[in-house]
Amino acid sequence: MPATVIVGAQWGDEGKGKIVDLLAEHSDVVCRYQGGPNAGHTIVRDGETFKLHHIPSGILYPGRICVVGAGCVIDPGQLVKEIDGLEERGIPTGDLRISGNAHLIMPWHVAIDAASERRLGKLQIGTTRRGIGPAYADKAARIGIRVQDILDPKILRQKFETALAEKNLELERLHDHPPLEAEELADRMEEYADRLRPYVDDTSLLVDRALRDGRRVLLEGAQGTLLDLDHGTYPFVTSSNPIAGAATTGVGIGPTRIDRVLGVAKAYVTRVGEGPFPTEIAGPDHARVRDIGAEFGTTTGRERRCGWLDLVALRFAVRVNGLTSLAVTKLDVLSSFAELPVCVAYRLPDGSETDEFPGHQSDFHHARPVYRTLPGWLEPLDEVAGLDELPERARSYVAFVSEALDVEVCMVGTGPDRDRVLTSRAIASVAG
Ligand code: GDP
Repeated sequence: MPATVIVGAQWGDEGKGKIVDLLAEHSDVVCRYQGGPNAGHTIVRDGETFKLHHIPSGILYPGRICVVGAGCVIDPGQLVKEIDGLEERGIPTGDLRISGNAHLIMPWHVAIDAASERRLGKLQIGTTRRGIGPAYADKAARIGIRVQDILDPKILRQKFETALAEKNLELERLHDHPPLEAEELADRMEEYADRLRPYVDDTSLLVDRALRDGRRVLLEGAQGTLLDLDHGTYPFVTSSNPIAGAATTGVGIGPTRIDRVLGVAKAYVTRVGEGPFPTEIAGPDHARVRDIGAEFGTTTGRERRCGWLDLVALRFAVRVNGLTSLAVTKLDVLSSFAELPVCVAYRLPDGSETDEFPGHQSDFHHARPVYRTLPGWLEPLDEVAGLDELPERARSYVAFVSEALDVEVCMVGTGPDRDRVLTSRAIASVAG
């Protein structure tokens, strides 16, 4: 049985949550492989809205094992809050498993994140200031605190002392922040440790066994391709690797175990934070797309920048993720536009045109979109029950995308609700 990766094909917020949620119903194990509480999935189920930050949305189905993999960073207080929130609403969390190797976001990470963004001023990256970047940085610097560390009070205190010897210098000297006290923090962490202990597991082994037993495993990335630390629009990227290849390192399985990679893209594009954005809409259409699409961050409430669909960037996503199929979400948001520009190529500073994403940052910074304008369908999609029932021009829009990218569009989103997804075949086989 297959292991499927779901990955954001743009700058995140593509509506992955809903697609993951749909596929989770047909999976046995659902894993998050990277990112932290900066990722937020909003799932609307029977009129109830669930906002999940750490926990895979598979938790909403009884009996699905939900894994937070080693590649994730966890804010323990936030995770406990999320667990409590689900339990209070009658959603059991007993099938949640947290990798003991996942790193923890500590109070110093949050303090340093906020202070560095302030210091960067105009050059700031636009982080969510939740300490995620500093936690990943400490992981690479080998002074991070892992989930398994907090389970042992002695190790915890040793690690805190080592980390704080350095971090307090940074806090005081660079950021004018009072030093943090290891003992007090360790006491606080022990409370979280007691709550999280039952969920901690060797999740690499768990997922491998599940695959060997023929169970269906879904690997869910947070953020999106263009925010990838290595392949995205650096430095305006996240501090981990959302692309599909990272699913294997983030969970601890080999690349040969992945069978299918489903990309999720909006029918247009949004971007949060700073950085170049060739198809960003100028004029009143910007606010229209933003308001109709409710483009405000799940976690931060920040307004998202909106742009027309960018096929150059999507072609890049097909390449770096090895997408085997694509879900196009939020097609309904475009229903009231008479004309729909779609970016088919970039014009570079030297006057040349390319349909491949530029390898050099300066080319991307100065790229001008070359649009092909497609006619809008100007009718609501509320009543549409199947892909072949879409208005002709909506169908042409989707077909144009699929042909340009040479990838099957197997799902189309027509509204926020869970059932507002049109599929080309049974959901269970849709990601193939
Ligand atoms: P994610 O992190 O990629 O899941 O994205 P977000 O959760 O930040 O944003 C997805 C938002 O779009 C949620 O509020 C969804 O309910 C909504 N959404 C998802 N699919 C569709 C769709 O096809 N149409 C509309 N109008 N909204 C959608």
